[in-house]
Amino acid sequence: MNLPAALTSARQGRLYPAVILDGGDVETRKRAALELARTLLCEAAPEARPCGVCRHCRRIVWPGSGTGGTTAFHPDFQVLERDLKASTSVDATRELLRTAQVSPFEARGQVFVVASAESLTGEAANALLKNLEEPHVTSPRNFLLLAPSRLDLLPTLRSRSLAVFLGAAEPVDPAAVEPLARSFTAAATAYATSGAPIYLLGAAAALAGAGGWEDPRSGRPWALAAAAVLRSLELEPGAPVPPGLRRARLALAESLLESPALRLRGIAADRILEGLVARHLA
Ligand SMILES: [Zn+2]
Repeated sequence: MNLPAALTSARQGRLYPAVILDGGDVETRKRAALELARTLLCEAAPEARPCGVCRHCRRIVWPGSGTGGTTAFHPDFQVLERDLKASTSVDATRELLRTAQVSPFEARGQVFVVASAESLTGEAANALLKNLEEPHVTSPRNFLLLAPSRLDLLPTLRSRSLAVFLGAAEPVDPAAVEPLARSFTAAATAYATSGAPIYLLGAAAALAGAGGWEDPRSGRPWALAAAAVLRSLELEPGAPVPPGLRRARLALAESLLESPALRLRGIAADRILEGLVARHLA
C-alpha cells in the first residue's frame, strides 16, 4: 500500500492497528507518521482530515521539534525513540504499552509511533506483538512502526501489520554536493602541497558537512560525501588530474558508499571519515 491509500483508510476509520512505514529517508518517515497521526485524530469532517488547524492537528508534532520555544504536546500521541545506543529497549517499549492500556485523554483514539522499529530488541518486539494480539480496546489505537525496510522487522510483527512503502531514499541533490565538494577540494589541495596532516582532518570535516549522521542506517550522508569526492575531480586546479590522484579519489568514494556497514558496528561517523580520508589521500 502507498501513503495516499493509507490516509484514505485512516479517514474511513479502517486503518490497521499496526502500520509499518518503510522506505524513504528518516525525515520522510517522520513526516508520513505525523500526517497519518493527524488524520487519525483530527476532529474535522473525515474528508478534510488532516485539517492542520484543529486542537489535535496543531499539537501532533515530533517531540523536541516545537518552534518558537513552545513545546506542543498531545496526550494521545506518543513517540518511542531509540533509548539505547543501538536499540529500543523492552523497558521503554513496555512503558509505551502501559499508556496504550488507558483510554484516550482527549481524542477519539491514540497513536503510538515507534521511531526506529528496526532497532527493537527481540524482547521489545515480542512485547509489542503480544499487545497487538490482545483483544481490541473500545477506542481505536494505532501503532506506526518506522523502519528503513520492513525486512528489518520480525516476520511475526510484519504479518500483523499493514506495510506502507514510502519510496526509495531521496536521490542526492547536486546543490547540496557543490559546497561540500569545494571545501573538500580546498583541503585536499592544501594537503597535497603542504603535507600537513591538519588538512586531512579538514578534508574529513568537509565531508562531515553532509549532515544527517545521527541515523546509523541512513545511506544518504555517505552518498552525499561520495558524490562530493567525485565532484572534486572536476574542481581540482590544473585538470586533468594525474591518474594516481584520480584512482585514490575513486577508491575513497567507493569506500564511503560501503561505510554504513561500519557505522552499524557502532563506529562514530567522524572516525570513519577521518580514517578513510587518511587511508586514501595520505
Ligand atoms: Zn485537524
